[in-house]
Amino acid sequence: MGESNKHVSVLGLGRMGAALAEALLGAGHDVTVWNRSPLKAGPLLDRGARLAATPDEAAAADVVISCLSTYDIQRPVLEAASPKVLVNLTSGTPEQARETAKWAASAGIDYVDGVIMAVPQGIGTPGARILYSGQEPVFEAQRGVLEVLGEPVFLGGDAGLAALYDLALLGMMWSAMGGYLHALALVGTEGVTPEQFTPMASAWHAAVGGFLPGIGAQVGSGDYATDVSALDINAAGLALLVETSRAQGIGTDVPAALKELFDRAVAAGHGSHAIASVIEEIR
Ligand code: NAP
Repeated sequence: MGESNKHVSVLGLGRMGAALAEALLGAGHDVTVWNRSPLKAGPLLDRGARLAATPDEAAAADVVISCLSTYDIQRPVLEAASPKVLVNLTSGTPEQARETAKWAASAGIDYVDGVIMAVPQGIGTPGARILYSGQEPVFEAQRGVLEVLGEPVFLGGDAGLAALYDLALLGMMWSAMGGYLHALALVGTEGVTPEQFTPMASAWHAAVGGFLPGIGAQVGSGDYATDVSALDINAAGLALLVETSRAQGIGTDVPAALKELFDRAVAAGHGSHAIASVIEEIR
């Protein structure tokens, strides 16, 4: 059996697990699947997958990929499977990943932890990226299989790193979505529709993305000098946003939390510094 045709088992056929199994089948791998509700395997079996009746039956693969709701749900499944090589794509905290890595080491299981930065529909497409951490030789040995699912990026030997990146990146996404929903509610008070507003919002979001390297460089150096836009002006802008939101009769939850943070940073003496200085209040 060559690198392009491995025996891969997938534990968990939720939205994501099913997409992973489908991509692996599409790439010509020999795929075994297990799910608590076996009926979900139907479409995959039609495409040539084999159904394992128990997690243990799925363990005799070159590599086992697990993708269940949570670590707590996953643990008894992994203990029952006890595979040789495990790639864990269930979302969790860095501590849960490290603890699972420790359990795997004690059970003699080669272990890599991963987080999926894509939706199920994106699996196997060029835009999908999956971040990994843990045992690098194990990652390298499985790279050919993992490339089928999305661009694999190895972050380092600490098994918790992938989960840490995941939560950091998702935090950015949720903040952006919260900001966008607040903006939609605000312009909506004057009858502006999402269809009218969204093209401008998308372009603005892309422009804001362009600010990140500069902010990151300032955080990296600790030099918050600015001749572009000082924190006090931005804190004043947030106060205007909160005031206007209130006046227009919508909630202030999203901007009020940021206003509180920016105000604290100004009070701590960062008013004339760049926005990057707010990190001093977060740390
Ligand atoms: P999902 O569609 O809700 O599927 C959940 C899976 O967990 C199913 O296989 C389900 O089995 C299984 N499960 C739930 N409770 C169980 C239990 N008590 N015992 C055994 N199995 C149980 O979730 P998903 O979207 O596939 O997400 C799976 C993982 O991928 C999560 O950690 C999620 O954070 C991560 N992820 C998802 C996305 C996404 O966009 N969907 C993106 C990135 C990462 P049944 O079919 O029997 O219910």
